[in-house]
Amino acid sequence: MLTTTHTYGETWENCLARIKPRISEEEFAKWFSPIEPVFDGTTLSLRVPNRSYATRIDNCYMQILKPVILMMYGPKTKLCYAVRIPDEQVSTVSVETDMTDISRHVTGTDTAKIYNPYVIPGMRKMIIDPRLNPGYTFSTFIEGDCNRLARSAGMSVAVNPGNTPFNPLYIYGDSGLGKTHIVQAIGHEVRQRHPELQVLYVSTNKFQAQYQIANKNGELPDFIHFYQMIDLLIIDDIQELSGKPGTQTAFFNIFNHLQLLGKQIVLTSDKPPVELKDIEQRLLTRFKWGMAASLQLPDYQTKLRIIRAKCEKSGVEIPEEVAAYLAENISANVREIEGAISSLAANASFLGRRITVSLAKEVLKVYVQMCRKEITLESIIDTVCGNLSIPLDRFNSTERTREIAQARQIAMFLAKRHTKAPLTQIGSAIGGRNHATVLHSCKTVQNMIDTDKSFRAQVEDIEKVLLGK
Ligand code: ADP
Ligand code: MG
Repeated sequence: MLTTTHTYGETWENCLARIKPRISEEEFAKWFSPIEPVFDGTTLSLRVPNRSYATRIDNCYMQILKPVILMMYGPKTKLCYAVRIPDEQVSTVSVETDMTDISRHVTGTDTAKIYNPYVIPGMRKMIIDPRLNPGYTFSTFIEGDCNRLARSAGMSVAVNPGNTPFNPLYIYGDSGLGKTHIVQAIGHEVRQRHPELQVLYVSTNKFQAQYQIANKNGELPDFIHFYQMIDLLIIDDIQELSGKPGTQTAFFNIFNHLQLLGKQIVLTSDKPPVELKDIEQRLLTRFKWGMAASLQLPDYQTKLRIIRAKCEKSGVEIPEEVAAYLAENISANVREIEGAISSLAANASFLGRRITVSLAKEVLKVYVQMCRKEITLESIIDTVCGNLSIPLDRFNSTERTREIAQARQIAMFLAKRHTKAPLTQIGSAIGGRNHATVLHSCKTVQNMIDTDKSFRAQVEDIEKVLLGK
């Protein structure tokens, strides 16, 4: 290996010898002497002290450098710059070029303090690491009533980024319900369907950190320019912009630019746009331009499917009754389901215990917020009536006023979501309806949740009481 490096080192010396006579001594000393070349047989990586070197070489000396490199290293050589960043690590940014169509590659594993990747003029095609978690795809995202709207809007966006009315697509919901998963799935899907598009996922906190560094170093134009080159920009947890006016302004500029060019923006938040606090009005207005879709707590059947899928993925064999026990008793969110499965798996593999309902009980006691009450059709009816101040006898009567009909629909919806009762049983307990009516009621309630904010809040309130939260 050493010999090879040594030989390649000589090759670089030969390159320099050819460049030197063609430029002034100062220029040579300033721009070429500090370069450290690393050649791996196909790619010549030029380590330069900072980005101005890469820019300078690219703008002013490429005409001289290119033929020399191709001659000395071979006609198929690729060129990339590795730039030292002002943190401790070297070269999270590299610029890759095949000498004709220069492309740029951002690598590195950093998360929180990734430095704003540089924009080097003259680079026509950039490749940006989209920073997606490989496990968060549509194929691993289990669909249910709780996420159907968000999922299908996400899929439409992925098929036709920038060309649907869903721009921005704004996905909101409580923690652990799959916001990050779903938006990353959009990113993967776009990359697969439209490999030519630049996709970038960034959390609002990271965006904020990059903004601060860029601001401190006087590099805001670079920062904004970088983001303006993205075709699908995914910004997670946008509520974190609250009370950060500088970052909001930067984001506003980027947002406008991308919108104008028909690029796709996908945002997530723990609240709908109207409930965001301390965010400039002009941004809020823009968040409302596209489409907002919520993620809700998964219903029993969806939980069951998620549990099966997660167990399969982690190679845990789970008896049906344990899966049912988990689905019935984990009320909080999908992250807790995952926590419970991991601890079940750990108990089973490290302690050699069989996965049984009693082990599941033990595990849930420690790891998971349990449903404090058992959810039955009766408890649902009581809670709905109590919350909406409807006397039980009116609820159970043949009365068909809007108020009563809606209360029954909500009760059916919650029963389908939180109990194992079949639709026929739900129907006969609530107003003596058949299963088709129950299904229709559930759809009506879901539609209203998706479109009517105060209705959604009302159902959520009832649900919280029901789950004992
Ligand atoms: P959020 O961003 O809303 O807090 P995440 O996207 O981080 O939630 O989801 C938490 C965990 O739950 C992730 O590991 C994710 O894969 C999983 N998850 C959430 N919803 C689903 C779903 N519908 N199908 C499969 N996994 C899910
Ligand atoms: Mg998240």
